[in-house]
Amino acid sequence: MDIVSTEKRLQMENKKLNREIKRLKKDNEVLRIANDQASRTQAYIQKDSMRQVFYNNQLLKTYPYLLILTDEQLQTVMISDVFFRYNSSFEREEFRRGVPGREVLAGVLPEDDLSILLEKCEAALRQDPVPPYLLRTVIAGKKIDWQITIKCMMKEDDIAGLNILFVDMTDVINAMERAEAADKAKSNFLANMSHEIRTPMNAIVGMSEFILRDSADEVARRHATRIKSASRTLLSIINDILDFSKIESGKMDLVNDSYQIAHLISDVASMINARLQTKPVTFKAEIDGNIPNRLYGDEVRLKQILINLLGNAMKFTQSGSILLTMRHEKIDGSHCRLFCSVSDTGIGIKPKDLKTIFSSFTQVDTKRNRAVEGTGLGLAICRQLIEMMGGSIRVESEYGKGTTFHFDVVSAVEGWQKLSDAPMSPLEQAGTAFQATFCAPQARALVVDDNEMNLDVAEGILEPYQITVVKAMSGPDALERFAEDTFDIIFMDHMMPTMDGVEAMRRIRLMKGGEEIPIVALTANALSGAAAEYRKFGFQAFLAKPIAPKSMEYILRQFLPSRLIQPIEETSKEPAVSVSAPTQAADALKAAIDEESALKYCMGNRAFLDKMLATFRKNEKTKPLETFFRAQDWENYRIVVHSLKGNALTIGALNLSEHAKELEFAARDDRIDEIMKKHEPFLKEYRSLLGAIDARKK
Ligand code: ADP
Repeated sequence: MDIVSTEKRLQMENKKLNREIKRLKKDNEVLRIANDQASRTQAYIQKDSMRQVFYNNQLLKTYPYLLILTDEQLQTVMISDVFFRYNSSFEREEFRRGVPGREVLAGVLPEDDLSILLEKCEAALRQDPVPPYLLRTVIAGKKIDWQITIKCMMKEDDIAGLNILFVDMTDVINAMERAEAADKAKSNFLANMSHEIRTPMNAIVGMSEFILRDSADEVARRHATRIKSASRTLLSIINDILDFSKIESGKMDLVNDSYQIAHLISDVASMINARLQTKPVTFKAEIDGNIPNRLYGDEVRLKQILINLLGNAMKFTQSGSILLTMRHEKIDGSHCRLFCSVSDTGIGIKPKDLKTIFSSFTQVDTKRNRAVEGTGLGLAICRQLIEMMGGSIRVESEYGKGTTFHFDVVSAVEGWQKLSDAPMSPLEQAGTAFQATFCAPQARALVVDDNEMNLDVAEGILEPYQITVVKAMSGPDALERFAEDTFDIIFMDHMMPTMDGVEAMRRIRLMKGGEEIPIVALTANALSGAAAEYRKFGFQAFLAKPIAPKSMEYILRQFLPSRLIQPIEETSKEPAVSVSAPTQAADALKAAIDEESALKYCMGNRAFLDKMLATFRKNEKTKPLETFFRAQDWENYRIVVHSLKGNALTIGALNLSEHAKELEFAARDDRIDEIMKKHEPFLKEYRSLLGAIDARKK
């Protein structure tokens, strides 16, 4: 080999090596760049994962509810820090490593609830639907209401674990329970009020009926007419307010009947005039004489709407005038639309309040109207009734100047005779007493009530039917009378001491002839549902006290055997008694009773008050009071003081009535200490009143 060729080959080798070196250098550069890139990416990933961990931790720390994430074996993956409020025996780190769900929750839920929860978790892991549920627990003596939601977490198609969320609903549930308790208290209050109001109303309505029937004195009759009409309306309003469940549930029914609009206007006008006597406010009615007089509809409800609107006008007007207008438009041969308005020159309503005044329990401008009584229900009832009568109501008002309510209702027309052609002026027509439409002189009724005054009222209402009335003052007394006599109908008070009306009725049902006899419950507590309730007990029907003569007639027609019912004979009736002269009460008695309030229940008639005092004296209850007190029979003790409370109120013994009420409530609520303390002073007060009544007789 020559030197030249060797050199050439070396040169070529050298070139090749240089190229290789160059290529390696380039590769090295690429690798360096790639390496740089990789380091940067790694740094980025590290930073991102730290970010994730940070936010995950923050989420668990700040999350307001108890959140538990588990794997598919129900081992914890993460838990929100709220957990440590309920259980501090774990470290946060332990959860990350995985603690069985049962162990974690053992300190939060009682064993039974925990088992249920774990069953639900198993179901969720099987992907069965598990709806959220409520659970009440007690932790460290504190009640907690949870809403628990269990959701399955998926990783693509595989189950990754569970998301279990506990939301603390204690405040919400507490608020709901408070609202329910308030609602219950409201119903109880209404039931109590019904009893309190209806009992004295019984006397007012019943006795005004008697005056109208028996008195020849024109002035007395006119006053009695007003009392009767005003008390009837008052009663129907009380009924509506008390029968609140009806209003709330929209179950109120209209009771349609024939009536004369002349009578309605007259009743409304006399009531408003009587109430306005003490105020410098004039009342005017502009009634279109073309309105058909004989209508068919719910007179009581229409009257109620007008009285409510006029009542508000009176309440909110200190001076100036109130105007009632009424006109009609014919709809077809047998219907018309009545348009009414009530305007006043009173305080007016702010524009912002106009929208809310028709809502229940809404009273507006309460700061200014502090002194004005009301329930905030009136307009809500009005609107509902008007809508039921096919109409609508609206209001216009200028704050500080006055208010006008406009409403319209559809009414059936029975006769197109004009109001202006009605034979008597509306006011003259009002004074007719209730007339019985039949009599039943062969019929015998047993009336059972522990309150003598109520017995008198029932007897008086049955008198026009010429029915023989036998009175019994207790359940056992009624059983005795029933055993020795034959009756066609029984009226039975519900609340009586020793044996109440329901028990007495049940025993009569077991006696000979007792299975079939109509027994009608008398009750001062007539909230909605009462009829069904009494029928369930075994009564055929019930009558609300104060007994309305019309309702009594309806019951008699329904339940007396038809062979006993005869048409009434038109005989000219002699007035039975005239009102006797006032008598002077002894001083001691004057101190014990509030005569003014007593006379209120006795229609200002002192002779009647005399009779009531005698009844009260005769009915004295010191013995049963002492007996039940000694026997610690608080149920019967409560019944006696309850009836004493009503009777004392009727004769104006306000203090005694108030003290009886305290004892009644103490007995009802088992506050025996209070009874022990108050019983003797009460008896003393009671005896001293009885003594004063005796002294007065001498
Ligand atoms: P209430 O029993 O409180 O009178 P209503 O539903 O009848 O309840 O009335 C609701 C509220 O509307 C009243 O409390 C009063 O603030 C306002 N209001 C009603 N009528 C009038 C009126 N004629 N003038 C001024 N304010 C009225």
